[in-house]
Amino acid sequence: MPAAMREGGKLVVIGGVAAGLSAASRARRLRPDVDVVVLERGRDVSYAACALPYYIAGVTGPRENLIVYDADFFRRERRIDLRLGAEVVKVSPRSRTVTARHEDGSSEEIGYDALVMATGSRPVVPPLPGSGMPGVFTLRTLPDGDAIKAYIDAGCARSAVIVGGGYIGLEMAEALLARNLDVTLLERLPNVLPTYDPDMSEIVERELHSKNVRLHTGTEVEAFEAGDGSDTVAYVRAGGRRIAADMVVLAVGVRPNSELAADAGLELGAAGAIRVDARQVTSEPSILAAGDCCESQHIVTGRKTWIPLGTTANKQGKIAGENAVGGSARFAGVAGTNVTKVIDLEIAQTGLTVTQAAKEGLKADSVAITASSKAHSYPGASPIRVKMVFEKGTGRLLGAQMMGEEGVSKRIDTVAAALSAGMTVAGLAAVDMSYAPPFSPVWDPVLIAATQAVKKAGL
Ligand SMILES: Cc1cc2nc3c(=O)[nH]c(=O)nc-3n(C[C@H](O)[C@H](O)[C@H](O)COP(=O)(O)OP(=O)(O)OC[C@H]3O[C@@H](n4cnc5c(N)ncnc54)[C@H](O)[C@@H]3O)c2cc1C
Repeated sequence: MPAAMREGGKLVVIGGVAAGLSAASRARRLRPDVDVVVLERGRDVSYAACALPYYIAGVTGPRENLIVYDADFFRRERRIDLRLGAEVVKVSPRSRTVTARHEDGSSEEIGYDALVMATGSRPVVPPLPGSGMPGVFTLRTLPDGDAIKAYIDAGCARSAVIVGGGYIGLEMAEALLARNLDVTLLERLPNVLPTYDPDMSEIVERELHSKNVRLHTGTEVEAFEAGDGSDTVAYVRAGGRRIAADMVVLAVGVRPNSELAADAGLELGAAGAIRVDARQVTSEPSILAAGDCCESQHIVTGRKTWIPLGTTANKQGKIAGENAVGGSARFAGVAGTNVTKVIDLEIAQTGLTVTQAAKEGLKADSVAITASSKAHSYPGASPIRVKMVFEKGTGRLLGAQMMGEEGVSKRIDTVAAALSAGMTVAGLAAVDMSYAPPFSPVWDPVLIAATQAVKKAGL
């Protein structure tokens, strides 16, 4: 634990998005006397990265709608010394200083009593011929979103290739379809959505095919090529094909920005993310970390994991901010709960899939059911597929995946709550859930799946 923060001490935070500003705001609220400095190398703070695909699609309106609070709000209302264009290039735990490089080329050394690293993550750019050429994009920051949107707004693209079938690739497929582009999605693995079981991913693949996304799974990209006499991407070579592409979006995963921490001698953990304990404290007691740059504990496996999500970044940031100024809050861990929309399909998961449970050495079984989102008699009811994963013998709930046109996103949270409580499928099947025709059938899909799981588990 960091030592209790002295009166008038200084907290420095690196990174000004979800985790960094949650940490700074929490510290400020708890300790009005402490100097809170946030160093952000970019020009945008506290924006909703999760909304970027919808911004590009034109759903969320102008850019400013994505900014939750601007820099002036933090400076004026929260009395946080927020410095933009300030990149931390060195952390020196022994002298408790960071070195920041400013946009004008000047450098500054800043002392701290406690430091929170909230440096986030960055997209992986595969080292393929042409991956740096104009027209090839990644999507991580607001300027990345601006660049893609401007390219489409300028009429530079009629066709697009998305590389990677994870949730960002799929959200981009939806966004680019909404902009009337001809969309091809390439995935190296046999199925899209590698964090889902293949039988569930196939539902998404059918949705993509039916909405005219050209999907090629099991297809490795080899190179990006420019058109004749141009330096801008025009084709993607993949799996022996040459696919026309006025633009490319690379969505092949992210990596934690943990190099600064590693250079400072901090221990790294899962997937190269910064190792932290439940109080978000790193291997160096005066330094905490939060958000995409650090690992978390998985509540089902009990192991350290790296599942970078905005929900986690906000919660960990709050805890890191509290503990940096002398608190002792604990982060409860993650179940990898996530939800997204792929065109007309809501998809969500929490906990482990059958594939992941097997990798963890758990003896897992599953049931998959299809049930109605509302009472059959009520207009607008549509089917929801629920796959529930449990431990053989004990019936311990391990996870669930759900897909359907409506009613998925909040149902997954019921299962997430049950996972947090360490419930069995029998316990979940006995929960007193609500019912009225506009919202669910009398046997909610979650209850039906849990009841089937009870039967299969022989409980
Ligand atoms: C397209 C997209 C959709 C997403 N959708 C969802 C979703 O629906 N649900 C969900 O839960 N999550 C979603 N996420 C993930 C979510 O956005 C991230 O988990 C979240 O932004 C992480 O916040 P963070 O503060 O840890 O890191 P970041 O948002 O990466 O912020 C880190 C900041 O640190 C700054 N920084 C890094 N190094 C330095 C340095 N040396 N000096 C100074 N500053 C530095 C960076 O410039 C950056 O601004 C999505 C992400 C993307 C890209």
